[in-house]
Amino acid sequence: MKAAVVRDFTAPLVIEDRPLPEPAPQQVRVRIEACGLCHTDIHAARGDWPVKPTPPFVPGHEGVGIVEAVGEQVRFVQVGDRVAIPWLADACGHCDQCLSGWETLCLAQHNSGYSVDGGYAQYALAHGDYVVKVPEGLHPLDAAPLTCAGVTTYKAVKVSGARPGTRVLISGIGGLGHLALQYARIAGAETIAVDVTDEKLALARDLGADHVIDARRQDVAAEAAKLGGAHAAVSLAVSNDSFRAAYAALRRGGTLVLVALPAGGTLELPVFDTVLNGTSVVGSIVGTRQDLAEVFALHAMGRTRVIRESRRLEDVNACFEEVLAGKVSARLVFDLR
Ligand code: NAD
Ligand code: ZN
Ligand code: ZN
Repeated sequence: MKAAVVRDFTAPLVIEDRPLPEPAPQQVRVRIEACGLCHTDIHAARGDWPVKPTPPFVPGHEGVGIVEAVGEQVRFVQVGDRVAIPWLADACGHCDQCLSGWETLCLAQHNSGYSVDGGYAQYALAHGDYVVKVPEGLHPLDAAPLTCAGVTTYKAVKVSGARPGTRVLISGIGGLGHLALQYARIAGAETIAVDVTDEKLALARDLGADHVIDARRQDVAAEAAKLGGAHAAVSLAVSNDSFRAAYAALRRGGTLVLVALPAGGTLELPVFDTVLNGTSVVGSIVGTRQDLAEVFALHAMGRTRVIRESRRLEDVNACFEEVLAGKVSARLVFDLR
């Protein structure tokens, strides 16, 4: 089978021919139809983060495909099911985090396309209990971006407290942000979209943003203040400057939800302002299997639009450059059908 492999953090990915993987008793083998390119895959391939994957590895945590073989202990998935293989490849299922609806915080978890091989391949292995079924009628090329960009921002918007009567700022209208904006609207919030390219600002308007701020030309905090400030801001841009701007755009009692993970990302907080303003700063990491099931259900009901462009897996290195140059309409998806 064909796979895109990271062999070295400083070298391009290599397309390799690998043997068909055999599922262990708890695993399924999935024939991948589509896998989205999340900015995290670029961080993974370059070793951007303090905890690094070990090359050689296959990136990809937005893999969607058809179950082709199941191990003897797999109970809830059958051959022929369409499933998604998210970032949370598996967790222990027994710790207090797993048992209290926070499996995404399990210390014993594995991560697809990071600590175990992911979806940049014609076939992938996955844990039978941690794949999420894709409902009938959902296009695999839509299901792929929902598997990380969707679930991550759905969860982040939940964490932000977005609801009617709140104003929520979405910083970065890329793969994650274009869906975050839609979930904030579904939650009933007034929305402020921030980006630095004309195309993304136009996309935000098209998706129904109530206000749009161009961070190249406008002062984000000042523009937000004119509107009364943001009750919450969700940080999805790969830029430390954007974190500071999102923090400064909050009204008193506001919440900054940190999601983007730039290399060496830091945010220095002024203690006096944070205390006097009663500001909350919270990190948000992907979402649970239940969150993803809710994301798929919303899409199946026609409540969300996935903005995507198809690419060939062979073009993976050029695709990374496209994303880094900000030239992508929202999400690139490798079409492996
Ligand atoms: P992306 O490249 O598709 O989107 C980033 C967007 O930010 C682009 O539209 C870009 O134009 C915009 N931008 C750049 N500078 C900006 C600025 N100063 N102000 C406002 N907007 C700006 O990336 P993505 O795939 O959406 O991922 C975003 C980040 O989220 C990455 O760091 C990724 O690793 C991280 N991520 C985190 C989680 C999590 O669970 N916490 C999950 C998935 C991805
Ligand atoms: Zn991701
Ligand atoms: Zn656990």
